[in-house]
Amino acid sequence: MDLGFTGKGVIVTGSSKGIGRSVALAFAREGAHVAICARGAEALERTAGELSALGAKVHSATCDVSDKASLERFLDGARDALGRVHVLVNNASGFGVMDNEQGWDQGFKVDMMATVRATWRVAPWMAEGGGGAIVNISSISGLEAGITVPYGAVKAAVISHAKSMARTLAGKNIRVNAIAPGAIEFPGGSWAAIKSMNPKMYEATMKGIPFKRLGTPEEVANAVVFLASDAASWITGHTLVVDGGQIL
Ligand code: NAP
Repeated sequence: MDLGFTGKGVIVTGSSKGIGRSVALAFAREGAHVAICARGAEALERTAGELSALGAKVHSATCDVSDKASLERFLDGARDALGRVHVLVNNASGFGVMDNEQGWDQGFKVDMMATVRATWRVAPWMAEGGGGAIVNISSISGLEAGITVPYGAVKAAVISHAKSMARTLAGKNIRVNAIAPGAIEFPGGSWAAIKSMNPKMYEATMKGIPFKRLGTPEEVANAVVFLASDAASWITGHTLVVDGGQIL
């Protein structure tokens, strides 16, 4: 199915590794041009190379999305490089899991304010170009109570933000949705670390998922691409759970 992304501009934050990387690659496979960022240069360069190999025009820049100026520099550079921006994926997380000052600070600065500020910056560009789509990466932690208190709260806020923006931006032909992944496993990711450091927690989580496995970044990326595409033209303000039934 042609999802209509050939030559379109896509920005993904936090995209050198894991889910963000897979999202960027999935858009590139659909023919999109992609802008990626991360704090570390090494993995970013590797991912930029993978994207170029797929034939995508790539803008890649080191950036800490929790820093307003750094985020805006990345977004402005992305617009200059890509031309029209059709899609924004707010993916970076501060993974503020501890219920202390630092945990809340990380959550608000990275998950929440970077999403708010990127939307402020990019939505007017989308509007000028006739529309677009924004996808916020939340988590099933934002839908149910859990032990990662600030993480769950900011992920719930990211869902709320998507709903409010969906109403606000519909008049500009911009759709805004959220994705709530369950546990997603990949080399170097948080669940790979839990598997080796806390195998009991890993096993218990896996047993709680009806399919008896964790999800893959590609499974999340496919859902992001769908929500951003014209195939989802009548879907806005929605949170799509991508968790193999974990939340059930
Ligand atoms: P990850 O493996 O830690 O990758 C995060 C990416 O974001 C990396 O490229 C990282 O590179 C970059 N990044 C982190 N902080 C950044 C910052 N302040 N500024 C710019 N870039 C930053 O994370 P992930 O597991 O793929 O998670 C991606 C998203 O999915 C997050 O929103 C997360 O909450 C959500 N999610 C993940 C899971 C899961 O099981 N993995 C489940 C539900 C939801 P640098 O470190 O070099 O900056």
